[in-house]
Amino acid sequence: MAKTVSKGHCYLCGKELTKTTAKRHVLTHEPEDDEAQECMLVKIEDKYDKNYWLYVDISLTATLKSLDTFLREIWLECCGHLSEFSYGPYHEEIGFTRKISSIPEGIVLDYEYDFGTSTDLKITFVEYTLRRKQKKAVRLLARNIAPDYRCGVCGKPAEYIDTEAYYDEENPFYCLDCLKAKGEDEEFALPVVNSPRMGVCGYCGEFDTYEFDPDKIGK
Ligand SMILES: [Zn+2]
Ligand SMILES: [Zn+2]
Ligand SMILES: [Zn+2]
Repeated sequence: MAKTVSKGHCYLCGKELTKTTAKRHVLTHEPEDDEAQECMLVKIEDKYDKNYWLYVDISLTATLKSLDTFLREIWLECCGHLSEFSYGPYHEEIGFTRKISSIPEGIVLDYEYDFGTSTDLKITFVEYTLRRKQKKAVRLLARNIAPDYRCGVCGKPAEYIDTEAYYDEENPFYCLDCLKAKGEDEEFALPVVNSPRMGVCGYCGEFDTYEFDPDKIGK
């Protein structure tokens, strides 16, 4: 598994950030004009693998449903599983119709996608923030750079994860050539993707249109 410090990109200016500097940095982009739209700055992390993280802002008039839709697009959707936001040690459910404006600053919610082979996220409602008016409910501000997974045989960048071997092989990652040499078809392996759901269920990341592209900055 990747052990280096988790780096990411600011989607507003393209700067490379670390997870710890990301919050302070994205807040430097707050507009000062009176026309600004009130938002909540939200940090999203995988509950177990801290290499996967996002910062977004969400309009205060939006609901948790918008956040659920966004999370499915960028990280989670494989076959339409159920999902849930919850709070506290007893996992009290917080409904999708809950308005962002009614969620207090500083609160941390749990989020679970797929109650079978689940992906669990930790969602921190960091603080109120401002942005230029826009229709989009959830705007991506920063995202981790994909961990550098390597083929366990030849050391080239990994393209596939052998899901059968996920739990009992030290390195279940393969490049296409080594996967084929092992006698396995790529149809039975899952692609390496920048998501905490990599290798789970049938997750292929086909709805993730948020890959960092320096040419799209400021557009
Ligand atoms: Zn920036
Ligand atoms: Zn699935
Ligand atoms: Zn290889």
